[in-house]
Amino acid sequence: MLPASVDVVVIGAGNAAFCSALAAAESGISVLVLERAPEDESGGNSRFTAGAFRCVYDGVDDLKALMPDLTEEEIKNTDFGTYTQEQFFDDMGRVTEYRTDPELCEMLVTRSKETMRWIRSKGIRFAPIYGRQAFKIDGKFKFWGGLTVESWGGGPGLVDGLTKAAKKNGIMVAYEARALSLMTDDDGVTGVRVRHGGKTVEIVTKCVVLAAGGFQANAEWRTRYLGPGWELAKIRGTRFNTGDGIRMALDIGAMPTGNWSGCHAVGWDRNAPEFGDLTVGDNFQKHSYPFSIMLNANGERFVDEGADFRNYTYAKYGRVILMQPGQFAWQIFDKKTLHLQRDEYRIKRVTKVRADTLEDLVSKLEDVDPKKALETIKAYNAAVKKDVPFNPNVKDGRGTVGLSIPKSNWANTIDEPPFEAFAVTCGVTFTFGGLKIDTDGRVLDTDGHVIPGLYAAGELVGGLFYFNYPGGTGLMAGAVFGKVAGTTAGRRAAQMPR
Ligand SMILES: Cc1cc2nc3c(=O)[nH]c(=O)nc-3n(C[C@H](O)[C@H](O)[C@H](O)COP(=O)(O)OP(=O)(O)OC[C@H]3O[C@@H](n4cnc5c(N)ncnc54)[C@H](O)[C@@H]3O)c2cc1C
Repeated sequence: MLPASVDVVVIGAGNAAFCSALAAAESGISVLVLERAPEDESGGNSRFTAGAFRCVYDGVDDLKALMPDLTEEEIKNTDFGTYTQEQFFDDMGRVTEYRTDPELCEMLVTRSKETMRWIRSKGIRFAPIYGRQAFKIDGKFKFWGGLTVESWGGGPGLVDGLTKAAKKNGIMVAYEARALSLMTDDDGVTGVRVRHGGKTVEIVTKCVVLAAGGFQANAEWRTRYLGPGWELAKIRGTRFNTGDGIRMALDIGAMPTGNWSGCHAVGWDRNAPEFGDLTVGDNFQKHSYPFSIMLNANGERFVDEGADFRNYTYAKYGRVILMQPGQFAWQIFDKKTLHLQRDEYRIKRVTKVRADTLEDLVSKLEDVDPKKALETIKAYNAAVKKDVPFNPNVKDGRGTVGLSIPKSNWANTIDEPPFEAFAVTCGVTFTFGGLKIDTDGRVLDTDGHVIPGLYAAGELVGGLFYFNYPGGTGLMAGAVFGKVAGTTAGRRAAQMPR
């Protein structure tokens, strides 16, 4: 049974929602989390993640505050480096082509460290991402790309930990409870209409936090806003993020903002299912492409695979793959780089071919022109700058010379068997367009005024990301803005008459 009234309703049960709920509960008010999914599919995209958080740390002491389990041995054998506010600002500016909303970006960057400590205080544990974000060179691990911390147990561990923390703090969580619309009067939001147990019910409330994700799982909205062809992409995560939260807010006059035609989209197994599969999690992605070359159906390269570290290119290359004929590409590796393939290359459900000669390999690349593919590989091999040493930990400048589409770093010839190739298509992670909020997490209307009682956090907030995204920022943004929105909502609810 859902309560007839509650101080704060949070819509969604992912990372942003639980951070909002936990922050609201600090004001000593009643909080209800509404989750559209059944319990075993709950947690939204947050459950599908590896739990990587991009946060500022000025040295190993900051990491120890988050991960007190770090051993002296690990510290001795690892170069964690730093990830300063300046680096985070630079990354956000560069990858969004300086369009990121300056106020939101500043909050994200300057509050990331304190927010991580706050999440830890709620019982969430963290660990270094040795497996995916560090390479071992001369016996020592070195982290690259500003992404060092993940939650224990990845996304499932994060969502389970947050759910446990919510329940411990007296927060009610209702599953299979789909918010349909917002109730309002002249003073703002007064309640939520919810579909639950086959009935439509109205819950009276003082504040609503929208944290129901983007619209990526809605094929019609994808085509409408991202453009033609996007209905053909796969969805990496939850099937439940169909834009409900955004729609509900727009229906009562909220302002849309941000990169509505943009999204985070990656290379994803060509034969993956239409939506994410929690038994596979994020392992349909194929993120070692900087050490490969990618060929399209015409047997041609189409992008600079080594333009930057994968953290700064992967989120925009899904779009590039979607634009290829047949919406797919093959990533090609030879023996020299097989050991650098991430763990996701070794799962059972993978579209992979293997061969001992290049001629045999190209004949096995389904739907690819084999003759042209062979020519492309040979021309690429001839163009590699063989005198520059290869180093996966830095942008090594070992590129190509004279190709119309260069490979700027990590170029190795593809000439030593065995050869492996992996077929990928476009997998959409989340959409970038969303709602306009202020620095207190309050939703603004199309006149720029606050809509009293309405807050937003997570994927459905617009304005932070344009064109591209630095890996690990989604969870961090959801936590920072979730905490802000929840705190503001909780304080407002506590001040309102019962
Ligand atoms: C495969 C994959 C891997 C990723 N890896 C990372 C990573 O390692 N690090 C990182 O930072 N980001 C990662 N991301 C991105 C990250 O998942 C998102 O940025 C983040 O989880 C979004 O959090 P959220 O709380 O806004 O949305 P979600 O976690 O998606 O939560 C939205 C919630 O709203 C619910 N909902 C929807 N409609 C309604 C409704 N009408 N009523 C009630 N509930 C509703 C959904 O069921 C869901 O529970 C990854 C995403 C995917 C798909």
